[in-house]
Amino acid sequence: MKWKVGAVTITKIVEIEGAGGTKFILPQAAPDVVREMDWLIPRYATPEGRLKMAIQSYVVEAGGQRIVVDTGLGNDKQSRHIPIWNKLNTPFLYKMTEAGFAPDTIDTVLCTHLHVDHVGWNTKLVGGEWVPTFPNAKYLFGKTEYDFWNGFEESKEQKAVFADSVKPVVDAGQAELIASETQVTDEISTFPTPGHSPGHMSIRIRSSGEEAILLGDVAHHPVQFQHLDWSSTFDSDPKASATMREQLFGKLAGTNTKVFGGHFDPGYVVREGNAFRLYETPQK
Ligand SMILES: [Zn+2]
Repeated sequence: MKWKVGAVTITKIVEIEGAGGTKFILPQAAPDVVREMDWLIPRYATPEGRLKMAIQSYVVEAGGQRIVVDTGLGNDKQSRHIPIWNKLNTPFLYKMTEAGFAPDTIDTVLCTHLHVDHVGWNTKLVGGEWVPTFPNAKYLFGKTEYDFWNGFEESKEQKAVFADSVKPVVDAGQAELIASETQVTDEISTFPTPGHSPGHMSIRIRSSGEEAILLGDVAHHPVQFQHLDWSSTFDSDPKASATMREQLFGKLAGTNTKVFGGHFDPGYVVREGNAFRLYETPQK
């Protein structure tokens, strides 16, 4: 799956995808409610009302640079809250290489935030040690986000995530802590979108008069464009997360900006009453 934004190319590399079982993340999105939201079907939900979601990375090619945005769950990780996320053995790196992006050709890794499903492939297990998966990459972490999770003791999972997928990159000297608003290349910049996590960032791509936004987890699923207040169970500040959606989608509604989800395919934001929809093509 590839998309063009001006001279920039965005390629999706999926680690895991499926439909359904979203109760643990978006409890209000019950199948009988989703079934009635016909604009979601079939792109973002099944006719039965099950939500389609993926854990994935985007490879952004811009000005000769290869930037991986978010890195999924990773293989061999442990102490994950969701049982099937432990000791994974997926062909993610093989898929990435097959798509033309061997790990040693990646220049930059950029994490929108430091949750379990966005940092996993930052590292891989080699001889019992966690080492950076992308040996030639500079890893960009938001400083606000990094400072929040560094030394965070309240969650066993987040502690493990930091220890196996963030700290080894810092120890290897490959991490750079950035301000939430940072120009990464001529065409790519970050901007702060806190709510889901304290230092969450989204990414803006501007190239040859075209624009796209990589949301990260401002929304986990397009169902949250219609129901702005359906915050995910993983949001650190559910109220702020809902406000962020309202503000950001309000700015994007009716524009030609292509909006990519951390866990769903891109669309264009359209205002509908007090809320929004996300459509595959711009609506007139
Ligand atoms: Zn996520």
